[in-house]
Amino acid sequence: MPLAEPMQTALLFGILGLLIGSFLNVVIHRLPRGLSVVSPPSACPACGRRVRALENIPVLSFLLLGGRCRGCAGRIGWRYPVVEALTGLLTAFSAVQLGWGPQLLPGLLLLWALLALTFIDLDTQLLPDAITKPGMLLGVLLNTGVWYGMGQPLFASPLSSLLGLLLGYGSLWLLAMAYLKLTGKHGMGFGDLKLLGMLGAWLGWSAVPMILFIAALTGGLVGIALLAAGRGRHYAIPFGPYLALGGWLMLLWPQQIIHGYFSLLGG
Ligand SMILES: [Zn+2]
Repeated sequence: MPLAEPMQTALLFGILGLLIGSFLNVVIHRLPRGLSVVSPPSACPACGRRVRALENIPVLSFLLLGGRCRGCAGRIGWRYPVVEALTGLLTAFSAVQLGWGPQLLPGLLLLWALLALTFIDLDTQLLPDAITKPGMLLGVLLNTGVWYGMGQPLFASPLSSLLGLLLGYGSLWLLAMAYLKLTGKHGMGFGDLKLLGMLGAWLGWSAVPMILFIAALTGGLVGIALLAAGRGRHYAIPFGPYLALGGWLMLLWPQQIIHGYFSLLGG
């Protein structure tokens, strides 16, 4: 039920997304290193020069500074503006899709958590407990307590949320154990289990097989593309980003994806 024009919604949440993206850069950099995400303020990693407010405008500052630190002229990684722009675009798009309602802010919170997890996994092959564990708890709480008084569930019924947590964690645990039995190697990190458990807690049990399907499909396609480019063998391909992609798609289009999947099966 949109209360505002889609363009206004997109603009408003696009700007919010750029600012959140700037914060996600801090989270992505500091969380895996065990540093605080609130203090100290951002500084150039090369010369330690503190980033001033005017140098901290998402995307724009990077362009104005020519991608260089004003103190030491050291290069600023292009990843920073990319994360900001991507967060801005996906936040605007997701807000328009979710619409003005109780799902809006929790849905965006899930998107931001998934973005942080994606880039941390790409950097470190880890999905930090500091995000996935509170994420699991929050998913169950949002679907049971907070919104239950409104007469309708937020993303899933309380039972579906709990089953989703168990199914998400459990199904990957079984896969990981089977892989270990067959190959004698650990193919999957426990972070993947917790991430799928978290997505199940947020989106309900029926989202879990869909997310696994999307992750296996997209992960497989990228894996084949990397192999074809002759780079596959040297890259440990993390599974987290594909689970995150599946979770985001199921957040925005749960019914459409489930219907599409079953019509695909039905021929
Ligand atoms: Zn510097």
